[in-house]
Amino acid sequence: MGLLDKKFENGNIVITSIDSLLNWARLSSMWPVQFGLACCAIEMMATGASHYDLDRFGIFFRATPRQADVMIISGTVTLKMAPRIKLLYDQMSEPRYVISMGSCANCGGPYWEHGYHVLKGVDRVIPVDVYIPGCPPRPEALLEGIMKLQEKIRSESLAKKSA
Ligand code: SF4
Repeated sequence: MGLLDKKFENGNIVITSIDSLLNWARLSSMWPVQFGLACCAIEMMATGASHYDLDRFGIFFRATPRQADVMIISGTVTLKMAPRIKLLYDQMSEPRYVISMGSCANCGGPYWEHGYHVLKGVDRVIPVDVYIPGCPPRPEALLEGIMKLQEKIRSESLAKKSA
């Protein structure tokens, strides 16, 4: 038999890749920046409350971008607010992800045509990983967006990133 014969008799052994282990840890402990922009933020707050219970995903809102790795853009992005969002994003640790929640964040929403003060999509200032449609999206839609982001993180590879 080989070198490992009878070395692990208690059965407590799991074989996996570093990518799978790190991705599993990251997707199970996403910490979003704690801030909201408009009506969509109310749905985001409802998603975090006891009925929908974001805690079961390992999601805890953080009051500082330096301890956060996810940003949920929940509401209308005004031209005044856009540079602040970019500043918060730049202060977040890598790897970081962005969920654009609702029509306003996706493309300007109801302000798309005549809202001279509204940015026509937050992806004009920061990169977006997941878009959630709706005005506003219900908590179930936000949960689906979060699971889409988990899928994306699950498929990432450290080796490919560092290459
Ligand atoms: S998408 Fe609709 S609900 Fe969300 S911030 Fe814009 S107007 Fe409000």
